[in-house]
Amino acid sequence: MRSHLRTRAEVPTMAITENSVVAFHYTLTDDQGATLDSSAGKDPLAYLHGGGNIIPGLEKELAGKVVGDKLQVTVAPAEGYGESLPEMIQEVPKEAFQGVESVEVGMQFEAQTEQGGAVPVTVTAVTETTVTVDGNHPLAGKTLNFDVEITEVREASAEELEHGHVHGPGGHQH
Ligand code: ZN
Repeated sequence: MRSHLRTRAEVPTMAITENSVVAFHYTLTDDQGATLDSSAGKDPLAYLHGGGNIIPGLEKELAGKVVGDKLQVTVAPAEGYGESLPEMIQEVPKEAFQGVESVEVGMQFEAQTEQGGAVPVTVTAVTETTVTVDGNHPLAGKTLNFDVEITEVREASAEELEHGHVHGPGGHQH
């Protein structure tokens, strides 16, 4: 009769599933090959799988993967940061920036919405009298290419599940 004891090598590797805590290194490039973001030289990014912590197109592809897996994932805007919406781009009079010495392209401000919230906007154009601000996410409308290496997979703690995010290196520190 066969023993029910397993040798170490037979212990199944934990695959990424709902409520896994996953850490991974990544490099994000656009379709022109320019690097937009990378975890190189930093802690790997940690997230709670199924918690909507990362963009859906990437989360979906990580399901079932294990530590040491390397993968390349291409995410279309709809499953990334969304399409760039024209209504999020506005031309406003320069007087709206009173108190700012010099408004320049690339500067970021917080715009008040009619609902009373605040949206981060980026200056995309400046004329003598007007400033164009874009409230889209900087990665909206872009196809994103991720190079990923999974460095850790573990079960989430009860506290992490309650908070909906990962604690510790690469996650929330509080
Ligand atoms: Zn927390």
